[in-house]
Amino acid sequence: MSTAVPITVAHGDGIGPEIMGATLHILKESGAQLEIETIDIGEKVYLAGNTSGIEPSAWDSLRRTRVFLKAPITTPQGGGYKSLNVTVRKTLGLYANVRPCVSYHPFVETKHQNMDVVIVRENEEDLYAGIEHRQTEQVVQCLKLISRPGSEKIVRYAFEYARRNNRKKVTCFTKDNIMKLTDGLFHRVFDEIAREYPDLQNEHWIVDIGAAKLADTPEAFDTIVMPNLYGDILSDVAAQIAGSVGLAGSANIGENVAMFEAIHGSAPRRAGQNLANPSGLLLGAVMMLVHIGETNAAERVHNGWLRTLEDGIHTYDIYKEGISKQKVGTREFAEAVVARLGQEPKILKPARYKAAEGGVSEVKQSAAAPRSKKDLVGVDVFLDWPKGTANDLGEALKKLSGDGLKLTMMSNRGVKVWPGGHAETFCSDHWRCRFLSSSDSASPSHQQIISLLRRVSESGFDFIKTENLYNFDGQRGYSLDQGE
Ligand code: NAD
Repeated sequence: MSTAVPITVAHGDGIGPEIMGATLHILKESGAQLEIETIDIGEKVYLAGNTSGIEPSAWDSLRRTRVFLKAPITTPQGGGYKSLNVTVRKTLGLYANVRPCVSYHPFVETKHQNMDVVIVRENEEDLYAGIEHRQTEQVVQCLKLISRPGSEKIVRYAFEYARRNNRKKVTCFTKDNIMKLTDGLFHRVFDEIAREYPDLQNEHWIVDIGAAKLADTPEAFDTIVMPNLYGDILSDVAAQIAGSVGLAGSANIGENVAMFEAIHGSAPRRAGQNLANPSGLLLGAVMMLVHIGETNAAERVHNGWLRTLEDGIHTYDIYKEGISKQKVGTREFAEAVVARLGQEPKILKPARYKAAEGGVSEVKQSAAAPRSKKDLVGVDVFLDWPKGTANDLGEALKKLSGDGLKLTMMSNRGVKVWPGGHAETFCSDHWRCRFLSSSDSASPSHQQIISLLRRVSESGFDFIKTENLYNFDGQRGYSLDQGE
């Protein structure tokens, strides 16, 4: 009886159909039991008037199979077309982007001979929530959102991944010396979860020096977990310095669906010439095989592919006189891998995969912590005020204190400018005015904040937003300003 696992496949644009053909041929010959459903995505769907680049019916297939092997697509030039990757990632809640970045010295040229780093990037939160506002003539803002459940999910995924893949260490990159609340939460969650994995080393780096170290000495790292923006940038850096952008695959993992692909695009200039290297998509497919529990097939494909590289059978993009033995096209490369299924590399490290328990990898949730005691202690009122000095504004607003709320501080772009500001500080038209409870024991009510806003408005000030200030279990839930 067949136990074939259904998967959804999209052949994409440009070199997509060729590298997908090669990849599916190798998967079939590897003995992987797959039942393939094909969907249309990309250029022709966009040009047919669908701005998301994916047919509505394709979602049914993705929900049914929950596994998506995707070739690169071409996003048409010009406005109005949405990124298909972002659409799929957000719609299906693919919270983890996993990108192994490996060098294959001495068979593929690289500056970093011992690089074997996996970047695990948080994929849904951070500045990529995409919540932006223009608030004044001079100032725009983007909200950086980091949640505890989101951080727990990605950090736990990184540790589970490391354990399953026989890795030794998980590193966290954040900028929590500056963003003490947002990146601070990510770092704290990392420390908490790291304690549940005593078999793995763990460490934290501030992202700036961590990034410099990664670019210079990648062999110092193993698995690195990061919030979205840092992960976006550094996963590209890591793939590039491994010397093998054309060889890297990636996985986007969600609770219900996972998507696997190459990291490169559709390379339209190389299309239709039997030139493209199918390795990136093939390694994405290997991650897919591991994900669905086909670990034997994953090892056969990965090791056969490593052996092909070792035997010097290379496509044009990695071909190097003196290192390579034979320059081949897409189809011939695939045949060479098929001929080596069941063989292992002699010099490169062979791939070994452990199945996740229950087949498909599942990340357990942390137990819900008891809710903290949340006390309102004040409000930051943001003003658009282009007219005068910090002192003028401070003196005018001070008069609006009363009814349980008192102006304690004003800042401009995060620097305290009142009371006692410095004349040298540049001030934009965007002011944060902090009103705190005038009593140590009583919280202000929403009504008191509303009447403060009424007084602010009636005095002719344009308030552009407010942020309530809370303590959680007595701990300050808002940042202090530079100089406060
Ligand atoms: P690209 O990655 O497609 O190609 C850049 C260059 O890298 C190519 O000209 C080619 O020389 C080389 N290259 C890439 N993949 C290769 C392979 N498998 N074998 C051999 N050589 C390879 O980047 P681009 O030219 O900036 O983008 C082309 C199109 O791809 C654009 O429409 C872009 O929007 C799209 N794109 C899609 C994805 C995706 O679907 N995930 C990702 C990135 C770019």
